[in-house]
Amino acid sequence: MRDTIIKIAKENGADIVGFAPAERFDRDSAVFKIMPKTKTVIGLAFRVLRGIYRGIEEGSTYYQYTTMAVENMEETIMPMAELKIAMELEEAGYTAIPQRRHQQIMAEKNSTNPEVAYDAVYRDKGVETQMDFFDAAVKCGLGEKGFYNTLLTDEFGPMIRYCFILTDAELEATDVIKPHLCDKCGKCRAACPGKAIDENGNTDPWQCAVYYNGANGTKNPFMPPDAFEGIDNRIEIIAGEAKVTPETARKILDKIYFYPPAQHAYQCSICGRACDIACYVHLEEKGVLTKKFKTPFRKREEWSFDVKDFG
Ligand code: SF4
Ligand code: SF4
Repeated sequence: MRDTIIKIAKENGADIVGFAPAERFDRDSAVFKIMPKTKTVIGLAFRVLRGIYRGIEEGSTYYQYTTMAVENMEETIMPMAELKIAMELEEAGYTAIPQRRHQQIMAEKNSTNPEVAYDAVYRDKGVETQMDFFDAAVKCGLGEKGFYNTLLTDEFGPMIRYCFILTDAELEATDVIKPHLCDKCGKCRAACPGKAIDENGNTDPWQCAVYYNGANGTKNPFMPPDAFEGIDNRIEIIAGEAKVTPETARKILDKIYFYPPAQHAYQCSICGRACDIACYVHLEEKGVLTKKFKTPFRKREEWSFDVKDFG
């Protein structure tokens, strides 16, 4: 059964498959609230095409990241693989529950998900039990924890997305990875155009949402010179120096119209996940990633506009 699951996963786009026995999770964790008889958590990691990040690195195309690296991965590719594996488990008489991220539903009362429109998020929905995806990914042996609380994989660094299947089938465990990639260089933090990552590696979701959506004019080819007119600290915002609150973030996001959103409320990423790109470039330059390419990702100096262009 384990080999069959790996085969189906790979045939349906997964690149890394890991198996965490139930004992790796606390008895009061979401895993057992969702499925009390869980015996194994199956983790699936999918590469996000490196070429898609290049559009934003070069400033030549932005929409492909949102549609092909976020929306289609989350809404089509990943659920398909999860369903096919769950069907195989049910065919063999086991129970299986796929777990994909609820992009628009959260238990928090006043947080947000930078990948979707803030006003499309349903907050304070604690009754909808959701797994801790990052914790499960580490426990399934998909990768290690990077400084900014992102998953780093040997093959693709941070350029991956992941999802899970809970099952009552007992399947041989994958070892948890001993951290060896992250050297605490801090390049992920320094690369954020909105200073959304703090000194401990934690990301402020509202700060991230504002700058994920392109509030930094020096890194946004679509921003008009009069952007954020009517907001007192507009130059500070455009320079990536503003510290936002949930309230000011909402006001800024209401004035962000640089690019049309995709379906399912997905917002176009203008920062291009600069944190992930910086980490990837660093790991690639160190030669520690196992998936090799014929040319390096970063080919020239990073570009930027002058904040003076905005008045
Ligand atoms: S950029 Fe450096 S500090 Fe940040 S996660 Fe990658 S290796 Fe760790
Ligand atoms: S680089 Fe983008 S995705 Fe990363 S923390 Fe900053 S705003 Fe968020």
